[in-house]
Amino acid sequence: MQTHSTFLPPERTLMGPGPSDVNPRILNAIARPTVGHLDPLFIELMDATKQLLQYAFKTENALTMPISAPGSAGMEACFVNLVEPGDKVLVCINGVFGNRMVENVERCGGQAIVIKNDWGKQTDLNAVEDALKKEADIKVLAFVHAETSTGVRNDAKRLCELAKQYDCLSIVDAVTSLGGIELDVDGWGIDAIYSGSQKCLSCVPGISPVSFSDRAVHVIQNRKTKVQSWFLDMNLIVGYWGKGAKRAYHHTAPVNSMYAFYEALLILKEEGLENAWQRHQTGHNELVAGLEGLGLSLAVDAEYRLPQLNVVNIPDGVNDAEVRARLLNDFNLEIGAGLGEFAGKVWRIGLMGYACKPRNIDHCLTSLQKVLK
Ligand SMILES: *Cc1c(COP(=O)(O)O)cnc(C)c1O
Repeated sequence: MQTHSTFLPPERTLMGPGPSDVNPRILNAIARPTVGHLDPLFIELMDATKQLLQYAFKTENALTMPISAPGSAGMEACFVNLVEPGDKVLVCINGVFGNRMVENVERCGGQAIVIKNDWGKQTDLNAVEDALKKEADIKVLAFVHAETSTGVRNDAKRLCELAKQYDCLSIVDAVTSLGGIELDVDGWGIDAIYSGSQKCLSCVPGISPVSFSDRAVHVIQNRKTKVQSWFLDMNLIVGYWGKGAKRAYHHTAPVNSMYAFYEALLILKEEGLENAWQRHQTGHNELVAGLEGLGLSLAVDAEYRLPQLNVVNIPDGVNDAEVRARLLNDFNLEIGAGLGEFAGKVWRIGLMGYACKPRNIDHCLTSLQKVLK
């Protein structure tokens, strides 16, 4: 048998589609002593976490809390709680994650009606409105705010207005948007939203914050059928994460990951949401100027590019995999490969959270220059 020893990971610079570089303050927090998941001090931390999360999402929704699992579980939590067999859901697809929403709808027994737009393009608002007009009884409009697979920002504010206008609930994927670009849950009237810990919050992976409007909570409480997932049934989870001192055991929260997640939200609060958004925009402008200086071009229109996820066209004759391998092995730098229709055609350079800073941008540009030469 092989002899095993402690795993000592190298110090990479993470500039892909997530996880992003974790702030050392957060790594420090996760290493603190574990307490019981019903310890009064841990319950205080849960309450404080909910408050900071309301700040980050810009919401007063009472049902705002982290799910003890990655972003995909937050996605599933929104769909399994709001979609019942036979329900119609309009799903906007312009990348990988919209397709996953369709999977979720179908597994809930719902009927997915799909609006498809090209990779690298925004969801077409007119097509969404036409579909909402045509099909009278659509229950939910679902879309991805920041499409990590293509680097496109969808117009969440207008899409939520359309949902309201046609009396639908909205489900919004904010995994890559939270903390990176403007997001206003109450201002935009979002009904159900989920995010992830490891993108612009720069926390360790494995936590998915969610928030549900009172309108969504009313729908969840008045379902005709049981939520088919026991673990993600919000009616049960609120017994553990809900208000008040009387918490009931539902599952064992990942206690130390919650220390980390709280610290990440605290860092965001200290910086200020608007400042964090601005920092991502400034970093993006610097990166783009540098990339263009190297003769590289971006795949997405400037008007709806994500600052935190930059999709770069791979020049003709350049070996995609070899460049990424050299960046990783020689420069300890991770950037992302293209997915789906973009596979082999683009690189995805993340500027997420703690990773969005001048030192990383310089490191990325100088390393790319050396490798491309
Ligand atoms: C990363 C990501 C997810 C999935 O999150 P996991 O934590 O990997 O489960 C979902 N949606 C978008 C837009 C993402 O970028």
